Amino acid sequence: MVAPLQIAIKKIQESQLSKVDFNNLEFGKYVSDHMVLVNYANKTWGNPEIIPYGDLLMSPAMLSIHYGQSIFEGMKAFKMQDGNINIFRLKKHHARMNKSLARMCMPEISESLFTETLHALVALDHKWVPSNEGSSLYIRPVVFATEARLGVKVSDLYKFIIMTTPVGPYFSKPYKLKVEDYYVRTAEGGTGFAKCAGNYGGAFYPTQVAKEEGFDQVLWTDHKDHQYIDEVGMMNVMFVINGKLITPALNTAILDGVTRDSILTLAKDMNFPTEERRIKLNELEKGFKDGSITEAFGAGTAAVVAPIQSIRIHGIDYTIPLPNENSFQSKVKKQLFEIRTGLTEDKHQWNHIIKIK
Ligand SMILES: *Cc1c(COP(=O)(O)O)cnc(C)c1O
Repeated sequence: MVAPLQIAIKKIQESQLSKVDFNNLEFGKYVSDHMVLVNYANKTWGNPEIIPYGDLLMSPAMLSIHYGQSIFEGMKAFKMQDGNINIFRLKKHHARMNKSLARMCMPEISESLFTETLHALVALDHKWVPSNEGSSLYIRPVVFATEARLGVKVSDLYKFIIMTTPVGPYFSKPYKLKVEDYYVRTAEGGTGFAKCAGNYGGAFYPTQVAKEEGFDQVLWTDHKDHQYIDEVGMMNVMFVINGKLITPALNTAILDGVTRDSILTLAKDMNFPTEERRIKLNELEKGFKDGSITEAFGAGTAAVVAPIQSIRIHGIDYTIPLPNENSFQSKVKKQLFEIRTGLTEDKHQWNHIIKIK
């Protein structure tokens, strides 16, 4: 038997909760009162603390700033019908975080350290979980190297922090995308499957260029000859083609999205045929021309599903019908909502429940 984790809790003097306008939550505008902090030294994760959210003192020579050992996760907690709180797909997010850590030569975090600190944090700040329909508490775990050394090396010191922020319903306007056929986000064998900071820094410039051209995001393609679809910005991409849900198969250049996985699983439950495979650009061009592509959407924790309105491929904008309540994406989004809030049975054990007395 492993002894239960001791978490030292230092509470905030004055809660910031009264300053939050729950009817007007911009993403990430308010950070909840407390954060988890765990330090890694001497080849081991130390005793976890929960402390008031605030600034930290760090060296400008710390290795993460210079050489990029920094990874994060993004997940959500929901208020359930019965008033309890549900952290959705905690295990899968934890497993993915460890894959990101391993790729960046950073120390893995045990499931118990992750689960118990996160549970304690959300329980302490449970009043920050919004209850309006479609709202949630966004959870941001981050791990970064803190050793102060100018030489290039793998850090011996790290911090693991968890912060949370209440977020409103995310009504994304349908996306206009551009197939990116020059820049790459990552390459096979690179770090695309890891949620590491550098992937996002490198994606800003091509995305900014696309925005200046009037698009919302780029649709990334393979690094070799830009013939195959990878994913969109912070979302995986899915299509309904001839009544089948089709999404690129995972490889080391594609992030293994938890939402992608949930949607594929629910599609199977709904007897909706699915296919994970490479998708070639000229298959999309053909499908848009003959009308066999009936839906295209992004899948990610922030929006769940985000409809795609148009895609520019080789200079031509192809438009996609917008979803209605009978579309696959609308049905699967509703299903996910019902599982998360306890309206439907959680048969895949995706919910981590925090009981609120
Ligand atoms: C986080 C992320 C996604 C979506 O993953 P979810 O687990 O569904 O939120 C997709 N692509 C990239 C590049 C991401 O960073």
